Amino acid sequence: MKRISGIFFSRPTLFIVGAVAGALALAGIAAMVLYEMRMDALGRARDGAENLALILQRDIERNLEVYELSIDAVVDGVSDPATLRLPAGIRQRVLFDRSTHARDMGTLLVADRTGEVVFDSAGYPPRRRNLAEEDYFTVHQRAAGAGLFISRPFVPGAQAADQAIALSRRLAGPHGDFAGAVVGTLRLNYFHRLFDGMTLGDHGSLTLLRSDGTVLMRRPYSVSEIGRSIAAAASFKPLLLASSGSFIGTAALDGERRLYSFRHIGTPPLIIVVGLSTQDIYAEWRRRAWAIGMVVALLDAFFIAISVLFANQLRQRLAMEAQLHRLASTDGLTGVGTRRLLDETLDTAWRAARRQRQRMSLLMVDADRFKSFNDRFGHAAGDAALRAIAQCIAASARRPGDFVGRYGGEEFCVLLPGTGLDDAIRVAERIRAAVQAIDPAALGAGEDRLSVSIGVAAFDGDTQRYRSRQELLLAADHRLYEAKAGGRNTVRPATAAATPAATPAATPAATPAATPAAGGGAAHPFTERG
Ligand code: GH3
Ligand code: MG
Ligand code: MG
Repeated sequence: MKRISGIFFSRPTLFIVGAVAGALALAGIAAMVLYEMRMDALGRARDGAENLALILQRDIERNLEVYELSIDAVVDGVSDPATLRLPAGIRQRVLFDRSTHARDMGTLLVADRTGEVVFDSAGYPPRRRNLAEEDYFTVHQRAAGAGLFISRPFVPGAQAADQAIALSRRLAGPHGDFAGAVVGTLRLNYFHRLFDGMTLGDHGSLTLLRSDGTVLMRRPYSVSEIGRSIAAAASFKPLLLASSGSFIGTAALDGERRLYSFRHIGTPPLIIVVGLSTQDIYAEWRRRAWAIGMVVALLDAFFIAISVLFANQLRQRLAMEAQLHRLASTDGLTGVGTRRLLDETLDTAWRAARRQRQRMSLLMVDADRFKSFNDRFGHAAGDAALRAIAQCIAASARRPGDFVGRYGGEEFCVLLPGTGLDDAIRVAERIRAAVQAIDPAALGAGEDRLSVSIGVAAFDGDTQRYRSRQELLLAADHRLYEAKAGGRNTVRPATAAATPAATPAATPAATPAATPAAGGGAAHPFTERG
């Protein structure tokens, strides 16, 4: 199995953290895009509303101009004494011929200074009527500068649906004094039809107002709202601040939140207000936002779920790897390190010792006459004996950094970093004594005690003496041979004076007076041949 590596692969939770961060980033980007789309929708709606307001303004303005011309023609006529002297039939035609027979134009009346109707576009003699109480008459009676006056809506005939407004102009006498008024009616139906032709969205509104807040026409249409004043409403005030503009507000008449675009028409102005409902403006956006939001949420959930699954897999795999590594580095029979781990550990320890010029010692431990032990008591007993020996070794070398590995067969190797020769000899002696103390009966070996021979080599930071770890290992091995040759069950150290190559194993060393009873300790009995 290939070992997995890399910061992400060694820390499964980082995957989840990464996925969550990615998911948040994606959601953030989606939110930004949606915000932009919303702004776009509003921008497009504003353009639409402004265009609509402009079109309505132009249409209404043009029509009012036409009516104004008709009224002005009558004003000119009645101001001309020659016209007034004409016979009734001809005068009627001269006065009212130029007044258009436009569809929504009602009758034109001329009233004298008392309000009495003196000329009537409907026929001669004029209807008997007095206009002295009407607002479109009194406004001119009171002041000369009223110009073209547009009245409040009223019902000229019998049907309530046939509402109209009056447009009136002052008649002046020879000295500029008040001489009466010319009044034309305009059926509100004109605005009604005009508004109906516009595309507005389901909740949009169109409103035509007088500058005092009086509603002249509205879509959606409701008879009761015509003539009503919205002067007190919050959404009315901004309409007076400029001759055109846009704002978002809540409708005074139906409570709907709208984007309003307005324009003034003429002076004193009528105001046309186009209202596009925010409901309608954002309807399409809302649909898309839902779709995009759902997709992003699903993607995010998918990412996170995948990362959790992957992290779990990775966790399992890492645990398995650790387990395998443990198995591969632990000797199955004795529980100490394998040969492979021994090599790795020795390499690392050696490099560290060289670099830091620190001492380190190495023991080679070999069971004595083990072949015959196996032959006499069987391999099962041999295995048990090896386990017992390994335990003795492990129990004797337990400082932090100490390492015990199986070199092969019945040979073990002990690394003692930071340990000098004297201490290493002490450890070796402890091992030798401990192995001697193993109860042979417990191993099924009768009375025959186990013993080990140990070769010791120490590195004291002097790289001249041992140039490589192999040389150190060889030195320990040579001492082991000497120990064997010297009678076994003994410890052989390589003294500082000795050079590893100078002590051939073939030369039997004089067996030192090392007996189990003698033990280790400071007064070590070993000698070393130079
Ligand atoms: P010496 O004192 O010179 O070391 O004699 P020896 O018999 O120990 O030497 P030799 O190296 O010739 O024998 C090693 C024996 O160790 C051979 C083998 O039967 C035994 N052996 C090696 N590995 C194992 C093992 O895993 N289990 C058992 N039971 N025996 C082993
Ligand atoms: Mg042996
Ligand atoms: Mg051996």
